[in-house]
Amino acid sequence: MTLYHYNRSPRLQGAVPLSSCANVAPMKSFLSHLECGLCGKTEDAGHLANLCPSCERPLLARYDLKAAKRTIRREEITRREPTLWRYAELLPVLAPEYRLSLGEGWTPLLRAHRLGKIVGASRLFIKEEGLNPTKSFKARGLSLAVAKAAELGAGALSVPSAGNAAGAMSAYAALAGLPAFVFMPRDVPPLFIAECRAFGATVTLVDGLITDCGKLAAEGVRDEGRFDVSTLKEPYRLEGKKTLGYELAEQFGWTLPDVVIYPTGGGTGLVGMWKAFDEMEELGWIGSERPRMVSVQSTGCAPMVRAFERGDEFAEPWEGGRTVADGLRVPAAVGDFLILRALRESGGTALAVSDEEMLDGVRLMARSEGVFGAPEGGATVAALRELLKTGAVDPGEQIVLFNTGAGVKYWHLFENEDRAGNS
Ligand SMILES: *Cc1c(COP(=O)(O)O)cnc(C)c1O
Repeated sequence: MTLYHYNRSPRLQGAVPLSSCANVAPMKSFLSHLECGLCGKTEDAGHLANLCPSCERPLLARYDLKAAKRTIRREEITRREPTLWRYAELLPVLAPEYRLSLGEGWTPLLRAHRLGKIVGASRLFIKEEGLNPTKSFKARGLSLAVAKAAELGAGALSVPSAGNAAGAMSAYAALAGLPAFVFMPRDVPPLFIAECRAFGATVTLVDGLITDCGKLAAEGVRDEGRFDVSTLKEPYRLEGKKTLGYELAEQFGWTLPDVVIYPTGGGTGLVGMWKAFDEMEELGWIGSERPRMVSVQSTGCAPMVRAFERGDEFAEPWEGGRTVADGLRVPAAVGDFLILRALRESGGTALAVSDEEMLDGVRLMARSEGVFGAPEGGATVAALRELLKTGAVDPGEQIVLFNTGAGVKYWHLFENEDRAGNS
């Protein structure tokens, strides 16, 4: 057995992975600067930053990939610790003692034979993100965002969230020893509130929608100097999520699948993967081939699907978004143009499925593969069925479904399962 001793917090100076891995090189980050994803304006990466000061759109982390290419060999990466920190050179945290880890990332890529047979796809895979700390892939983004905020000297963190982002932020803030402030709609499932409080976060319940939570959170940011870690409103959650792309390539033997089906809210994972593919090509780790990227949303909140179908560059906000999949209840995404760009450049598409179809997808994945996923994960099953039906995806293609969270966190949706007439 291999034992890993992860870097725990800035106060545990000098903690290093005590693994049997041959490679204990210092893994210096090649972060160079920030660049606006829309207007291209560059920013210094040495201070806390939110959106682009000129156009208020997301700032993206840029690396000296030429230098990285000379230094890192992909064969070396495969011997490293089984967390997303195996890609430390291509992540923004500079000082190793700030690499906050609860064991996030490096999740299994499961071959889904039985589910594939049922839906008619012979090379189907599930990326099982429900195994992450706090049981959703939000851990990837928040591990990086909190670590980098701590490194840059943030005094307190704040996030408006209806679910998994708040829990993940609270966990990593606890690990960093930073106060966490969470703003949630009063009607979020009690488990999500309890989780944040267990981690010691200050939770404010708001009568209203996530947008109202955002307004209240913004007051604390302005008046108390808290740092806002909302998705794509700071540059580094994206860097955590991009490791999904690095892992896909590594797990497929430095090739990429034909189709990626991704449940899209703010789009961080999809945009992150697309960024990772470009970085890996520059590093010489993969070629120019790309998967077709597919965004799945809920019929109750589908701003990206609508914008994709209209051919728009930006997505109009969705009025009165409703869905049981909290991760998909994002009426307006600040990175909308980046999502739409990735879908189009990849030759992919966007489609919406109903909440009922999502929950059926959860049941089917659970019964056929032993993976009890989040409704967002179930949405990818429903989307795949539709894409096979319309011929947008061929039965023999290599397809990856993203199960982005664990079904146990959505107990409220499944508590009457025995009464639902399921045999
Ligand atoms: C947040 C979330 C999503 C959406 O992720 P984005 O990268 O913001 O699009 C999907 N599934 C789950 C379980 C989530 O918590």
